[in-house]
Amino acid sequence: MTDIPLKEQIAPGGEPMTVRDLASCPPPQRWRDWVEYDAKAWPRKVERHYEIIPTICFNCEAACGLLAYIDKESGRVKKLEGNPYHPGSRGRNCAKGPATINQINDPERILYPLRRTGKRGEGRWERVTWDEVLDTFAAKIRQALVEGRRDEIMYHVGRPGHDGYMERVLGAWGVDGHNSHTNVCSSSARFGYHIWCGMDRPSPDYANARFILLISSHLETGHYFNPQAQRIMEGKMKGAKLAVMDPRLSNTASMADYWLPTWPGSEAAVLLAMAHVILAEGLFDREFMRRWVNWQEFLAAEHPDEPQTFDRFVEVLLALYSQYTPAFAAQESGLSAEVIVDIARQIGHAGSAFAAHTWRAATAGNLGGWQVSRALWFLSVLTGSIGTPGGTAPNAWNKFVPTPFLKPSPSEVWNELLFPPEYPLANYEMSILLPYFLREGRGKLAVYFTRVYNPVWTNPDGTSWIEMLTNEQQIELHAALTPVWSETAWYADYVLPMGHASERHDLMSQETHAGRWIGFRQPVLRVYQQHQGKPVRYTYEANPGEVWEEDEFWIELSWRIDPDGNLGIRRYFESPYRPGEKLTIEEYYRWIFENSVPGLPEVAAKEQLTPLEYMQKYGAFEIPQEKSPVFRLHEQALSPADLEGAQVDERNGIIRRNSAAIGVMVDGKAYAGFPTPSRKLEFYSATLKDWGWPQYSVPGVTRSHVHPSNIDHARGEYLLIPTFRLPTLIHTRSGNAKWLYEISNANPVWIHPHDAVRMGVQTGDLVRVTTEIGYYVNRAWVTEGIRPGIVACSHHLGRWRLETSGGPDRWASTLVELRREENGIWRMRQREGIRPFESDDPDSARIFWREGGVHQNLAFPVHPDPVSGMHCWHQKVRVERAHEEDRYGDVVVDTHKAYEVYRQWLAMTRPQPERADGLRRPLWMIRPYRPANSAFKR
Ligand code: SF4
Repeated sequence: MTDIPLKEQIAPGGEPMTVRDLASCPPPQRWRDWVEYDAKAWPRKVERHYEIIPTICFNCEAACGLLAYIDKESGRVKKLEGNPYHPGSRGRNCAKGPATINQINDPERILYPLRRTGKRGEGRWERVTWDEVLDTFAAKIRQALVEGRRDEIMYHVGRPGHDGYMERVLGAWGVDGHNSHTNVCSSSARFGYHIWCGMDRPSPDYANARFILLISSHLETGHYFNPQAQRIMEGKMKGAKLAVMDPRLSNTASMADYWLPTWPGSEAAVLLAMAHVILAEGLFDREFMRRWVNWQEFLAAEHPDEPQTFDRFVEVLLALYSQYTPAFAAQESGLSAEVIVDIARQIGHAGSAFAAHTWRAATAGNLGGWQVSRALWFLSVLTGSIGTPGGTAPNAWNKFVPTPFLKPSPSEVWNELLFPPEYPLANYEMSILLPYFLREGRGKLAVYFTRVYNPVWTNPDGTSWIEMLTNEQQIELHAALTPVWSETAWYADYVLPMGHASERHDLMSQETHAGRWIGFRQPVLRVYQQHQGKPVRYTYEANPGEVWEEDEFWIELSWRIDPDGNLGIRRYFESPYRPGEKLTIEEYYRWIFENSVPGLPEVAAKEQLTPLEYMQKYGAFEIPQEKSPVFRLHEQALSPADLEGAQVDERNGIIRRNSAAIGVMVDGKAYAGFPTPSRKLEFYSATLKDWGWPQYSVPGVTRSHVHPSNIDHARGEYLLIPTFRLPTLIHTRSGNAKWLYEISNANPVWIHPHDAVRMGVQTGDLVRVTTEIGYYVNRAWVTEGIRPGIVACSHHLGRWRLETSGGPDRWASTLVELRREENGIWRMRQREGIRPFESDDPDSARIFWREGGVHQNLAFPVHPDPVSGMHCWHQKVRVERAHEEDRYGDVVVDTHKAYEVYRQWLAMTRPQPERADGLRRPLWMIRPYRPANSAFKR
């Protein structure tokens, strides 16, 4: 292997690289022709020449950098490794990043667009051309648009993989059709943050923290796993203490200084008890609170007869939270009061270097889970650690979403299938309720796109999704845009193969640390062919088979919906460089890189590259902090230009221009503040009060549906945690990654030894887990890594297929029989576990794992939180030894009962139909795709 001295290796920007930077990565000036010895030829020294092209991992949301090694002899991707020039991941990946190579080479992957030839779900398919697909969907969409049925087109996304692209497409079409997976994921955590600060995700600066509190095993096992885990370890190595609140001994909890195995649903009580200690012991940041909390609004609304002073506010606060004593929290959670006090003091002493995070976990499990993120943010507010070095920023301060050219005006349409009147505050679309809404006749869909989304398997009550997807009156035309077979794609009309990480364009930015960056996902074989002088018109010409990418698909589809431009759609898909001609995907990104990314053109020019060439070469760019600061952005002073034509509301200091709040006066100066109605941090939420929830106007505790008082252990009842991830699996997309399934191929039920004795089971025994609507049968794993009284089962496994071949990959799926009986009861039984099979990949004959896990989500009804709209995942279950007739993998579910449970939870909502302002939803609250303000009016 040839090598060059380190001093000759220069990083972007001209800085010499250090040994650490380059410990395992070739220098970029040699990426066009990198030489390695062929490991398989050893001991002979056979040189292989590669071109190295960067891209972005597509296997979780963290968007780590990858380098694709393209073998110049075969023209194929040989392997993928970490990209050290990516500011978030810094050259490191988890197991899922390099496993992209499995996904590319999977012998079972879908290589061509398919159309069903039998009934939906019969599994009969024929290959079609992309032209046929585009013409079919363009005609159907055009008809709906022309006939004014703008709420009948729906795009339903699982893993987006890009920022802003689809919102632009849907805006151009003039539809309110963006649906997401978020209310099975994070809408509750988001709501708790959003109600405080108008932004809905946290971004902790772990590397500089003194104390870190995590309420999530999820974070470090799946969500921002690698980039944030790196920084947590950095913080720990610099002396930070780490506490993890999780009833299960997760990988993260096992690395913590404090494992806090709280009873699920008690987390908000523990956090508020910590708040109580911090307040009572005077450990809070008085000046930050005085300046940035909306205490004046609170006192005026709730204590009008009291002195309207900050000192009085602190006294009221102390009185308000005196009920949350450490003893009370200890009783609720099972932690000791001493530990709660100890951690509260450490948080108080960490001050502005207190970093905290919650995602899924408690927020996703419990009725009122959003109170957990709200209470956690309260601790950040008390310590003044919002947007500080070592603190926690709102995600928008550490994420960069560039603006594309020619943004469409927002649509005038409001789609009640997405935001129905019962859930005016739902943080994201009421996605999980779609089957019930269609069943109730609230609407129908002319065209339904599922995009990297598998609701039959991922969502609760998947059989209700099957009933909806097979009903051609409810859904007239369904395309599954997917890189892999899924249980949902099986019921589609068209299955449209989309690319993996190295086969598509996307622009990504995530809040991985205190900084801002963008990453460029690109189809590496297309770039490679272009470097070889072979122009590529469409990405599917360079990818395996005819695997395409969504970005180009939407351009082509939009063009065909409006070929002559009469609908006003086409102009958004015309080139900004060649007026009137169709936009190419390179031009779309070229324009963004040239015009919307501060600092990129200058840095690229230093290397004699265009901004697009720079991004193609390095795959990522960190926005210089002088161009885009990341700390304390609420304290940014408004400029004279900002203030021109603005008025200050003398009552509360809010600065408005054209009736929109743009800032706030604090101590006589004009600042940007936060994007809330008060422009401050809203300890007091007039929104919650005005929209039907006055008891939640300040942070508090909502009693969970799985509170201990609802669980009768004497009757064999337990609390089931079904939400935890395995660090090695992605949801649907790991189904075609053989290395990942070799590592993780079972999801047994975690049971504490005391409970196992009560049940009379040992590790490996079959147990029946009975829910409100059915049951499933799985193996027990007896472990002290779970609290007594609680059982847990990862949602990652239990993939299934209905035919011997076709459908979800055989690396991951068991062959099942699934039938619906007359009485609405569905029964699934495994016919055969995972077995070796013959294919072009010899590894398929070497499969040694057999069972493949159990699909538990099928047996869960929906539990939509009446405020946030989040599905509350935790279940009250009965766990017992399996019955004689039970088999591993059995699932039985009653969809009639599932519908009843949906109605029970719906009855908990508080619709606000008669509001004087006529709004469907507060104007200030965010929506993933936001229609025009006029659409918010009924
Ligand atoms: S953490 Fe996520 S983005 Fe990073 S390598 Fe792993 S799966 Fe890919």
